[in-house]
Amino acid sequence: MKEILETRTVRVGENVLIGSGHPIVVQTMCNTHTSDIEATVAQCKLLAAAGSQLIRITVPAMADVKHLEEIRSRLRADGVNIPLVADIHFSSEIAMAVVPVVEKIRINPGNFHPDHEKARALFGQFLGLCKQYDRAIRIGLNHGSLGKYIVEKYGNTPEAMALAAMEWVEMCIEAGFYNVVVSLKASNTVVMVNAYRNLARMMKERGVVFPLHVGVTEAGNGDSGRIKSCVAISTLLEEGIGNTIRVSLTEPPQNELPVAQYLAHRYSSAPSVSLGEREETILKAACDYGAPLLNHEVDDIPLEDEYLKDEILQACRRKFYKPEYIACPGCGRTLYNLEETFNRVKAATGEFKDVVIAVMGCIVNGPGEMADADYGYVGEGAGKVTLYRKKEPVLRHIPENEAVERLVELIKNDQVK
Ligand code: SF4
Repeated sequence: MKEILETRTVRVGENVLIGSGHPIVVQTMCNTHTSDIEATVAQCKLLAAAGSQLIRITVPAMADVKHLEEIRSRLRADGVNIPLVADIHFSSEIAMAVVPVVEKIRINPGNFHPDHEKARALFGQFLGLCKQYDRAIRIGLNHGSLGKYIVEKYGNTPEAMALAAMEWVEMCIEAGFYNVVVSLKASNTVVMVNAYRNLARMMKERGVVFPLHVGVTEAGNGDSGRIKSCVAISTLLEEGIGNTIRVSLTEPPQNELPVAQYLAHRYSSAPSVSLGEREETILKAACDYGAPLLNHEVDDIPLEDEYLKDEILQACRRKFYKPEYIACPGCGRTLYNLEETFNRVKAATGEFKDVVIAVMGCIVNGPGEMADADYGYVGEGAGKVTLYRKKEPVLRHIPENEAVERLVELIKNDQVK
């Protein structure tokens, strides 16, 4: 491992410390509906028992702030003291309403308002509130959802992502608010690694380095999702970049934890995890060969297992032997069985080459988040789906039971043109 990036330490709740002097913190997110208090409390308990050190919960509507409060007090009453993170998209009102309720809030301040100056003013107010309640925040910018202002001002490159984040970092410094973690996720491993490298360099040059939450967004599921996450996250951890990690899989969230724990132990003094032999082989190979491939230090890897070799090469974007799949992990906004649908889409589209296919859980964030996908399958709710070609919705309100077939037709028709 190269030198570790020296960062500030962020405290979340009483005991969770995130920063370069501490073991890498492992976290995940509930995929239950926040309004389903029983299910969310039960999932939080399961995730805490499985070793998650922070748990994120989506708060899609103002009415969910009450649900979050109830979830938190039930957990505390049952002696489960794990810090909770509220996941907020777009609404500064909801972001401010959850500050008294949870230990950490994840926001993308650029989406607080379409007018950038107003977004800055709202972020300033939000920081004041977080200071008052002694909360931690994560500034989370994803490649697919940078916002119009940012893309027009900085572009849509890894460097642009880092520059966009630096604007908010600067505001935190000016406000004297330092309980800040930053993330710049992307589903493209090359974009993701370069975005974090740029941000680490820029914060170092600025002289204030906030801890980094590292992850590949919409990594998918199964071996591919694990491998994609491991090649990119390990490349950064190898360089000492990354203080807390989430491995996003389109699977039950407890499945993410052993992968994250393996990475945290491999690159810090976090406790070890026991894995099955096959899973360990896959994760180890992805970590061993991820950095050399992503850094173009090697063009091939000495693996006899051709399948594993192809998967690692594809995760590093060095060979595309099957379609590239993007799928969100699902959360309280998901309105259909995401994992099952994703598996059906994969089974029906495996024959296509050189296409990127996204399967996203909700119409609110899905279209923005699917970044450079050629085709998107996006759940609308109420059993309906919208199919996208690039960023354009081309077929709307398709019944769920026809949607996979229609997606295949769409791709086939485009390929014969
Ligand atoms: S895109 Fe997926 S993970 Fe993101 S908010 Fe929508 S359902 Fe949740």
